Amino acid sequence: MTNNNDITVYEVGPRDGLQNEKGVIELHDKVEFVNRLSNTGLRKIEAGSFVSPKWVPQMASSANVFQQITRVESVCYSALTPNLKGLEAALEANVDEIAVFAAASESFSQKNINCSIEQSIERFIPVIERALENNISVRGYVSCVVGCPYEGNISPNAVALVSQKLSDLGCYEVSLGDTIGVGTPNAIINMLNVVKDATPVEQLAIHCHDTYGQALANIYAAIEAGVTTVDSSVAGLGGCPYASGASGNVASEDVVYMLEGLGLNCGVDLGKLIDAGNFISTQLGRASQSKVAQALAQ
Ligand SMILES: [Zn+2]
Repeated sequence: MTNNNDITVYEVGPRDGLQNEKGVIELHDKVEFVNRLSNTGLRKIEAGSFVSPKWVPQMASSANVFQQITRVESVCYSALTPNLKGLEAALEANVDEIAVFAAASESFSQKNINCSIEQSIERFIPVIERALENNISVRGYVSCVVGCPYEGNISPNAVALVSQKLSDLGCYEVSLGDTIGVGTPNAIINMLNVVKDATPVEQLAIHCHDTYGQALANIYAAIEAGVTTVDSSVAGLGGCPYASGASGNVASEDVVYMLEGLGLNCGVDLGKLIDAGNFISTQLGRASQSKVAQALAQ
């Protein structure tokens, strides 16, 4: 049962956060990371992806991660699956939810997934159908919803079109990503106002990167506009290899701190979340990028 003050924090650290890490992260550390996140009160954790290890070597161990984690009943564990092969592997690994990844920018789609927006959507049709047949819920991602590294500003209409297609195909939720973190609150609101006309706001999530330090402001704007699901990555993990200078996802700790201050309930224990973020930061050999984690460490 949710009420109007409920916000879902969708943790993407183990996938979006770690996928571009160059160094080896041991399987047992990934498992421990997901297990720690599972005990924070989070309800959604994107724990891996079933993509070709040739493209994303860091995610090659996703099947093992899903096999070895200790699942918490209240947590939905999801994985990114770009094609049928990935979906079959995800079903084998007993994922609760899958995600497909599209772009609102034609050039970004070409560079990132080697096909047009239209072709990417065509490819998702059998993936989504097969997932739904197996009672697996499907989440859609739309990247570059306000800006693209190749095309600059992106028209809200382009975002609305892709979002609606994903929703029509059966995605229960569409996560709108400011992949390179260039957005400001007005751009987010203008985009949402157009997207909301085609896809109900209850089905929209916001996914912000903090490249220009705007992520929390943008999330606040999205919440004011009615969005109730926020993607984030503990310790601010993440980046984008196709978007130079793109820094990590907004830190989950910072989002939870803001939600608490706003009197919005997300059910996440901030202390446990900080511990999970510090754990993975230690494994990566660097400090947490979460401002809240840094402040509370002093
Ligand atoms: Zn991201």
